[in-house]
Amino acid sequence: MTTHARIAIVGGGMMGIGLLYHLAEEGCTDVILIEKGELTSGSTWHAAGQCPSFVGNYNLAKIHSYTIELAKKLEDMTGQSVSWHQCGGIRLATNQEELDWFHFVKGFDDNCGSSTEIIDVDEIRRIHPFLTTDNVLAGARTTRDGHVDPSGMCQALARAARKSGVTIQRNNRVTDIRALPGGEWEVVTENGNIVAEIVVNAAGCYARPIAQLVGTDVPVTSMEHQYVVTGPVQEFVERDEEVPVIRDPYASCYIRQEQKSGLIGIYENVNLAEPWLPEGVPPWESDSELFPDNLERIMPWLEKALERVPILADAGIRRVVNGAITHTPDGAPLLGPAAGLRNFWMCCGSSFGIAQGAGGGKYLAQRMLPGDSEINMTGMDVRRFGHYADESYSRAKVFQDYGRTYATALPGEELPAGRPRRTSPLYEKLREHGCVYTAGFGWERPQWFSLDGREENYSHRRNNVFDTVAAECQAVREAVGLTDLSGFAKFEVSGPDAGSFLERVFANNMPRRVGGIVLAHFLSRNGRIGGEATVTRLDDNAYYVLSAAAAELRDLDHLTQGASKDEDIRIDNVTDERGALVLAGPRSRDVLAKLTDADLSSEAFPWLTASEISINGMPVRALRVNYVGELGWELHPAVEYMSDLYDALWQAGEDHGIRNVGLYAVNSLRMEKAYRAWGAELTNEVTLLDADMERFAAFSTKDFTGSEATREQADMERRWDLVYLDVAAVDSDVRGGEPVYLDGQFVGVTTSGAYGHHVGRSLAFAYVGPDQSGTGTRLGIDLLGERCAATVLAEPVYDPENLRLRA
Ligand SMILES: Cc1cc2nc3c(=O)[nH]c(=O)nc-3n(C[C@H](O)[C@H](O)[C@H](O)COP(=O)(O)OP(=O)(O)OC[C@H]3O[C@@H](n4cnc5c(N)ncnc54)[C@H](O)[C@@H]3O)c2cc1C
Repeated sequence: MTTHARIAIVGGGMMGIGLLYHLAEEGCTDVILIEKGELTSGSTWHAAGQCPSFVGNYNLAKIHSYTIELAKKLEDMTGQSVSWHQCGGIRLATNQEELDWFHFVKGFDDNCGSSTEIIDVDEIRRIHPFLTTDNVLAGARTTRDGHVDPSGMCQALARAARKSGVTIQRNNRVTDIRALPGGEWEVVTENGNIVAEIVVNAAGCYARPIAQLVGTDVPVTSMEHQYVVTGPVQEFVERDEEVPVIRDPYASCYIRQEQKSGLIGIYENVNLAEPWLPEGVPPWESDSELFPDNLERIMPWLEKALERVPILADAGIRRVVNGAITHTPDGAPLLGPAAGLRNFWMCCGSSFGIAQGAGGGKYLAQRMLPGDSEINMTGMDVRRFGHYADESYSRAKVFQDYGRTYATALPGEELPAGRPRRTSPLYEKLREHGCVYTAGFGWERPQWFSLDGREENYSHRRNNVFDTVAAECQAVREAVGLTDLSGFAKFEVSGPDAGSFLERVFANNMPRRVGGIVLAHFLSRNGRIGGEATVTRLDDNAYYVLSAAAAELRDLDHLTQGASKDEDIRIDNVTDERGALVLAGPRSRDVLAKLTDADLSSEAFPWLTASEISINGMPVRALRVNYVGELGWELHPAVEYMSDLYDALWQAGEDHGIRNVGLYAVNSLRMEKAYRAWGAELTNEVTLLDADMERFAAFSTKDFTGSEATREQADMERRWDLVYLDVAAVDSDVRGGEPVYLDGQFVGVTTSGAYGHHVGRSLAFAYVGPDQSGTGTRLGIDLLGERCAATVLAEPVYDPENLRLRA
């Protein structure tokens, strides 16, 4: 019996085995995988095996793409049959919004090195002659994807991994996991204990009880999901070629050929879907289990599916598979470290685990071993969910998400389930002002303000809130705007060693003077960007660290796990204790001056400084900094003052044309200033040098985490350059993930974009090769099926000298 391993993986389904294989591929073979039953005996064995390449998330598309390429060659590599069927797929569009989305997603697939074709109804019928296409507008045709035998694929990966020297223990349940004083984990199993440096939770539907063993949680709900297999279909018997997998939003289903039969899987409407076990604790004895059929539940959609492929109706239903499928609140898997724990990782929560196991395992293994993955893992990081994502939240969101598996999510679309979770004291007040909220890391944050009661017509194209957002931008550029950004993650770092500690964990120099503010980044050892923060020096030994709302738990880990035992520091997460109101615009000084005796002149209170001031008698931490590029202050009072502070500012601002401003406008304004965004331009894929932010890396004057790699990179040729682009867009703007071309050749990818309302130009960021990044280079970007010209700009289109900020 193995008693020690560097890494112990709990769970031998597609996700655990995908990781096991890739850890071995990366050269780490001191790994043990522990499975309570037989390999694949959880959700994996009964899956329908589809591995689609048309995926509405760029980084997940890369994961699927990798899995598909591996599945194709696995049989040759290992000698184990995986039953790969490269039948391709067609996703059907039944309205214009879906078709627009196809063009957007096609960009991801094109970026991944393959190509989706948007085809018309005649071509759909030529490829799949058995479809009825009455309500179909077009199809997204992929040819390199297909389906695999999930058990065969797992066995093949397990066989290859075993050959490399890893250990797999079957029929051995993990019953407890304990933290040892030396930092290792003791994994208690039915057959003895194993001490491991790192533990990975790949327990599928059991991921929650496994997480709870170490005092944490995962936002996962297990749903029942059903597919039916028909009897043999004569038309299939008579054909040599397999028909492609059809994905149909009308019937909320996938339909494919299974040998000479048909297979139909249904994602029924949320109100009828049932979670597996209301209490969420599956019995440990459950092994290779299915639930009783419940055809009645899926019948309304099954009928529509049979309308779509009528030849299946005559074949009769031969078999029903009703199995457990894990879902997370946003439908993406959980791949990354557990918040607040060292060396405890998650590899679970996948509802497309057959398509995601190998690819997810590859990129997670890269992240666990050398420390960075090739793809942006932000959207899969477990810490994108906070403590607000408890069981009831997960369940509400998962119900919503499950039924929308084949629904097309529209940009800006807000869905109601599980909300609100985290609100600022201004929540109701701003609602009365017409605030339309968007949820981020549980927070309800202002997206835009509906002053005439209009509702947004969600669309991939500019829509009926375009003018409203323009007016919010105008207020900031010409008068004054007020934005509630209380969701900012906020930390106070104090103690005698606070300064030296922050110098080590951040790439930039810390402010020398009390009241100074700097922009600073957490880097990995390889110099890749892990996070971005605004650091204010409060006094000799105290600092205020602000970062994106969604980064709260990640950055808390950066801070707490970056500290060494002998450092005398204290880290307080004060996110919920302080609010944040941004007052910005040329009139902001006039507004604030009515309420404070503090000297607000640039001489006394310059840009990039902070001070504790009194506003209408309320103590407020005021930072002269903002993300919209105007004269302005971020005001951070204790939450109990937020409401009175807002009222005072609003009243003082009325004569100056004050207006509430939401995040749509903030995005437009920051693009005009060419401010990068964490998670879009600043990700684990790139370095500060790639992002053209060398000035924030003090690698020539100090040592910090990632400094050595940054120094090395400074002497090397660049892989990527971030370019800022003026896009000749017509009625839609860059969202990120669109392919970039030069002379018809694919050369890069966009990261984000927006229409700059003040300058009247559509703007974007993209990473391209160093040869394509020169100012004035004429690139092309595919926007909803149209190739638009895009010109590389030399500097921000608005106030490149920061005169407005310094005003
Ligand atoms: C009907 C159906 C059809 C599907 N079709 C598709 C499809 O076409 N394509 C696709 O991509 N996905 C599909 N899925 C989803 C897919 O099956 C899952 O996403 C995937 O199997 C999840 O893999 P996993 O490794 O996370 O979980 P699992 O396969 O459940 O593996 C987790 C393992 O952990 C083990 N375990 C749990 N607790 C312990 C413990 N304490 N000690 C030791 N071992 C433990 C379990 O026994 C289990 O084997 C389908 C699902 C269903 C239900």
